[in-house]
Amino acid sequence: ESSLDCYGLETERSLNYMNEAKKHLPGGVAANIKHFEPYPIVMKEGRGAWLKDVDNHWYVDYLMGYGALALGHAHPKIRHAVADQIFCDGTCLFGTPHQLEVEFAKAIKKHYPSIQKLRYTNSGTEATQLAIRLAQVFTGKNKVAKCEGHYHGGYKEMLYSINPSLDEAGEIDLPLPVPESADVKVDGNEPYILPFNHIEGIEHLIMTHHSDLAAVIIEPIQAGYIMADQTYIDRLRQLTLTYGIVLIFDEVKTGFRSALGGAQEKYEIEPDLTTLGKVIGGGFPIGLVGGKKDILDVSSPSRGADVFEAGEKGQGSAKDILFHSGTYNGHPTILAAGLATINEMEQAYAKVLDITTSLREGIETLAKNIGLPVTTYGAGSIFNVIWKKDCKLKHYRDLQKTNTKMRKELDFALLQAGVYTKPLNRYSLSAAHGKEEVDFTLQAYEKAFHQLKG
Ligand code: PLP
Repeated sequence: ESSLDCYGLETERSLNYMNEAKKHLPGGVAANIKHFEPYPIVMKEGRGAWLKDVDNHWYVDYLMGYGALALGHAHPKIRHAVADQIFCDGTCLFGTPHQLEVEFAKAIKKHYPSIQKLRYTNSGTEATQLAIRLAQVFTGKNKVAKCEGHYHGGYKEMLYSINPSLDEAGEIDLPLPVPESADVKVDGNEPYILPFNHIEGIEHLIMTHHSDLAAVIIEPIQAGYIMADQTYIDRLRQLTLTYGIVLIFDEVKTGFRSALGGAQEKYEIEPDLTTLGKVIGGGFPIGLVGGKKDILDVSSPSRGADVFEAGEKGQGSAKDILFHSGTYNGHPTILAAGLATINEMEQAYAKVLDITTSLREGIETLAKNIGLPVTTYGAGSIFNVIWKKDCKLKHYRDLQKTNTKMRKELDFALLQAGVYTKPLNRYSLSAAHGKEEVDFTLQAYEKAFHQLKG
């Protein structure tokens, strides 16, 4: 008998698939994040706000491709945009500059006034990597600081202190770097770890280390749902300007979600560099780095030509230009899907906010009426459900004090009732979520809350 049976879930085909998958993929998954215990449910179809698993159950989907799907699954505008690009333009890859690169850049710049120039990548991970490299070359400095509890992609420089245990994590105002991967060490090359929402902590670290600090990278809204205090983010901007440190807002999650213009629109702050991903690809792989043109131009090949002409013959180009490349950067099919998404979101965003609010309010009212210590935290179209009495979440360490055991029980009870999110994951809504889905979800919540209340 499978362990999901005890939650009333019939997942025979998921289980069989996962047993087969383990023979071919490590852990049976294409990315570690797709794994959960006892085993993941395997999906085969997505329509609007709904997902269907291989055992033919439908779920209202709140994972939404980890937040990437702002319009839901299989949105007709995206399907048409992709089909037009492939069939009408007759290629899915030019390998040359093409017109969508500029059209897309203009659509981004319209919502992100801090972006003067940008470069495309194939993922959010590549985008934050490139942002850090740009900052290092631009400032001539080498070290990077990141916040405890923040995620910027799966590569060695950033795989520290994302989910550390509190007994390893050091003092709240002076967090220690804690490795998050078997290939990562604390050997002097690790980033400085900043405390999120702790002003004295960042003042101390930045003032102590500014002379070798190229960049501070931050999720301005942690995991898309824990806001930075305005005073904290203002002070961070001030300090980084004072000390010539590049401030990178990683808006891969928050872009077109916290607001159309991301967290920076909410805080009215202009970072030096912004990274975007997820939503802007309409469900396809993409990322970008945008920001001050002087910083972006560090990667400009024509800058190389200037240097080459001005400098000694045979010197100048390679060593003075930041090398950034990629066969698929600015992929036309993906830009077509992304552009369709951005255009549609301009119309749909207000409705997505309304639906998100009504769901959050519904969950909180049910919890209050039934007498459970559950609340929601969020910004824009992302929120999370937190199981904790007298909740006040300010940073990663507060999250450690929430009742994740009960939250997981809730997740499985909701799965049984046809509401999908990966256990403990946040909720991302889309333009495809409407009143029908909210009503369905709240019914599932009511049932689950009564079950858990016992
Ligand atoms: N930065 C943030 C804030 C993210 O949430 C993510 C992904 O979840 C990334 C970077 C990495 O993006 P990708 O998974 O597209 O490489």
